[in-house]
Amino acid sequence: MGSKFIFVTGGVVSSIGKGITSASLGRLLKSRDLKITIQKFDPYINVDAGTMNPYQHGEVFVTEDGAETDLDLGHYERFIDENLHQDNNVTTGKIYGAVIAKERKGEYLGDTVKVIPHVTNQIKEEILKAARDSQCDIAIVEVGGTVGDIEGQPFLEAIRQLKNDLGEGNVLYIHVTLVPHIGAAGELKTKPTQHSVKELRGMGIQPDIIVCRTEKKLTSDVLEKIALYCDVEKEAIMQSVDAPSIYEVPLMLEKQHLSDLVMKKLRMISSPLHLQDWEEMVSRIQHPEHRVTIALVGKYVQLKDAYISISEALTHGGISNRAQVEIKKIDAEILQSETPDVHLRDVDGILVPGGFGGRGLEGKILAIQYARENRVPYFGICYGMQCATVEYARNVAGWKKANTTEADLDTPYPVISLLAEQHGLESKGGTMRLGAYACRLKKGSKAYDAYGEELIYERHRHRYEFNNIYLEELMNKGLVVSGMNPERNLVEIIEIADHPWFVATQFHPEFKSRPNRAHPLYRDFIKAAVEYRLRVQGKTKAVSAHQ
Ligand code: GLN
Repeated sequence: MGSKFIFVTGGVVSSIGKGITSASLGRLLKSRDLKITIQKFDPYINVDAGTMNPYQHGEVFVTEDGAETDLDLGHYERFIDENLHQDNNVTTGKIYGAVIAKERKGEYLGDTVKVIPHVTNQIKEEILKAARDSQCDIAIVEVGGTVGDIEGQPFLEAIRQLKNDLGEGNVLYIHVTLVPHIGAAGELKTKPTQHSVKELRGMGIQPDIIVCRTEKKLTSDVLEKIALYCDVEKEAIMQSVDAPSIYEVPLMLEKQHLSDLVMKKLRMISSPLHLQDWEEMVSRIQHPEHRVTIALVGKYVQLKDAYISISEALTHGGISNRAQVEIKKIDAEILQSETPDVHLRDVDGILVPGGFGGRGLEGKILAIQYARENRVPYFGICYGMQCATVEYARNVAGWKKANTTEADLDTPYPVISLLAEQHGLESKGGTMRLGAYACRLKKGSKAYDAYGEELIYERHRHRYEFNNIYLEELMNKGLVVSGMNPERNLVEIIEIADHPWFVATQFHPEFKSRPNRAHPLYRDFIKAAVEYRLRVQGKTKAVSAHQ
């Protein structure tokens, strides 16, 4: 039997939580033993998210096969616990690129190439291909943007056509909207939902299910009104009330029988739902035994989504240690003008995430020096590993002007530098070291303790590397190199032996972390932070008892 399709569209405003809704639905269906994939269509013209500024689109999520994708793919992977691929994120740029390439090859046999049918056919092909390749029972396809956007129209037209192509019972449309609460009137307003459904119906798509995002619980008469005006049964109007944790959303939707409804509408019979693991995980979030604060010292701290996989992975580390993790975002540049101690003395762990360019670099290095000298647990990710190498070279090896060539081309000690293959590259898109590579761990190291195995695979997104010219000398001065890429002898993990927990990786472990299976390094980092907190509290207690 072929796959069935659920198309998720959004109305009223952007950032409404379509990604979490799609991911939550994916989790529910997977918990019925169905094979699920989730695909995201992004109507922008960039070929992928790799060239986009995090200020505009948040984090770039990297898949195992090295695609630089929209951050929603991170939510999908975390919720459905499946690795996704290049084809799971398709942009207008990719679609037009493929259509133009076909036209140049003469594949359209002299046709005038148009949005309908050529572009829409290409979109349909991408949808069917991803479903086929994953051999899924159900493909959930999220259309980015908001109904009514000019860029989104070819996608809506394509998903409209697919219902005719595939037939009743094989395609389901879910529309996610916002029901705003107007404080002054004390009322929940349904008009924006009515309008966006009207717009969707104008494109020929009648939603089967409406998911209403709302701050406050919807009353029965509000639900009835939406049902009546939008021509959807009342039981197919779901409410998704703001939740303290995104991992509660699948449970909230299932209380309203979402997956039963989907089974009924897609004319499917499945195993009964088993959500016990998920419920247990959510209960751990709701009942923590410890609290820790982790400083995240980076450049894009004002933006909520710029480090989303890292904050989620920290939360996962918290879940496995029964700890609530508070993240204190600190703008690296502030540490350059104010003493780091003021900002860092109340934290239980310090993390420097990935980043690009020289701005804020010195602040990151000061934060790392603080962590090393004060024995605060430190976790460096990608640029955070490169900065830790620079810090060690400067302050332990005594090479005062050591640097990464990304910030200083003329440094006498280029401890981080470009690989030969990256020199002279002019094109920016898709040219970094991307995706999963092998790493061999050193027995007895903290990394080995965490993973419990010797050969691991982790995802990368960077151009610069640890410069092996300095490898031996830095190791002689006490730096532990606990992970190496076996094929090319590239440094993947560094540690400091005489420190409670100081580990920095060239790769991004957060991309593989899951709420019910925290990444081992995030798990151990949070464990070290909990221990640090208990130690510090113990000391304060001992001091106050003494007084
Ligand atoms: N800017 C660094 C590099 O390109 C680090 C990249 C990152 O942190 N993702 O190598």
